[in-house]
Amino acid sequence: GRPLNAGDFAAWIGRAAELVAADADRLTRLDAAIGDGDHGHNMDRGLRAATEALSGLPEDAPPGKVLITAGRAIVSRTGGASGPLYGTALRRAGKALGDAAEVDAAALGSALRAALEGVRELGKAAEGDKTMVDALAPAVAACEAALAGASRDGGATPAGCARAAADAAERGADATVPMQARKGRASYLGARSTGHMDPGAASTALILRALAEVAGR
Ligand code: ADP
Ligand code: MG
Ligand code: MG
Repeated sequence: GRPLNAGDFAAWIGRAAELVAADADRLTRLDAAIGDGDHGHNMDRGLRAATEALSGLPEDAPPGKVLITAGRAIVSRTGGASGPLYGTALRRAGKALGDAAEVDAAALGSALRAALEGVRELGKAAEGDKTMVDALAPAVAACEAALAGASRDGGATPAGCARAAADAAERGADATVPMQARKGRASYLGARSTGHMDPGAASTALILRALAEVAGR
């Protein structure tokens, strides 16, 4: 279970940009069903901007700085509700990592927890409101459960935590289908928001899948 370094975090953002670009049409279709049909475009633009911003960082920048830089780029370049929410998530995660050069499983869990708290503070969504929180909250809980389980039998790994988080986020996104939206644009539809996956929960699942892939390398 190797720790993650700054290169891994940059690779995470780059891989998230690839997965979102490949699925941008699906994200946009989901948002067309219950929102304004721009989520794929917003995420593609934001993650491209983040990847570009990271290419300008010095080699020795720590992982925390990588995430703060990516978060700032996303806030400044992503339209819509999702930009400030994802930007805040990444900046909070980066702050939680501090100046450490290496990130072990426990630090990764704390960073994911900080990201969730940032999203909750800014967006005020609870679980069940049909938002990205419905993917991110179970992901954080799954990573923490993996940490607790593994510490009993010898040591959690960032890869194990990230895999548990990605799996839980996918299940969480699936679980948004029958929910009625209570936050964001989709809430304007009332009962007509049921029967479709929340686009932000879908993009959260992609971003955490990217993390699991990179941590598992
Ligand atoms: P917009 O709705 O402004 O067009 P996007 O389409 O990019 O922005 O993002 C929509 C997604 O943002 C939703 O699917 C939902 O997951 C997320 N979202 C919207 N409002 C909130 C909120 N208050 N808290 C958490 N997530 C939210
Ligand atoms: Mg939208
Ligand atoms: Mg919009």
